[in-house]
Amino acid sequence: MVASGVERLFFALWPSATEGQAMAAYAAHLECRHGRRITGDRLHLTLAFIGAVERTRRPAIEAMAAALRMPGFVLHFDRVGLWRRGGIVWAGCSGVPASAEALVATLRHGLGTLGLPFERRAFRPHVTLFRRASALERAAPPAVAWRCRAFVLVGSELDPVGARYRVLRRFALGSEAGTAYSD
Ligand code: ATP
Ligand code: MG
Repeated sequence: MVASGVERLFFALWPSATEGQAMAAYAAHLECRHGRRITGDRLHLTLAFIGAVERTRRPAIEAMAAALRMPGFVLHFDRVGLWRRGGIVWAGCSGVPASAEALVATLRHGLGTLGLPFERRAFRPHVTLFRRASALERAAPPAVAWRCRAFVLVGSELDPVGARYRVLRRFALGSEAGTAYSD
């Protein structure tokens, strides 16, 4: 549990229902030993993890994101793998669009200017499909695309059965940018 004055936040790409279902359908056919599958409505791609911050910081975080004018992009998921640490089975992209890299770099920079800690490791875009898997049988890679026309700020509440996510606000990319609105 986090203290009540604090919330756990991250920026992410959230798929449309159709795109989420396509990824979930791919995951449903993977054979993972002991893995816990992430359900379709929770699938996402983390752009920048913020972590626990005082609730009072949220307006500044949202303002930073709302001021961005960045292009949209398409992610082509064509890789699958297992990170032994955490038993993470992930779907990834062999080619990451420059616009996606730029969005992450800009968000990290923005968080830095707000005095918030941010990830310094290279961005490794991935969608977590399973956790705590001990093995992944040889599998055909995904052939799933996400058209990314927005990114979101998500609140995460940790509970024993896994994190509960709440999309707090959506920020448009591309021609829609500038018309960010709350969900
Ligand atoms: P749980 O912690 O219950 O297993 P979770 O990891 O999905 O669930 P969070 O820990 O709130 O929930 O993380 C939210 C998102 O941010 C997830 O996509 C997670 O992989 C990612 N994330 C968590 N911690 C970090 C971190 N230190 N650096 C980068 N990304 C992180
Ligand atoms: Mg976690």
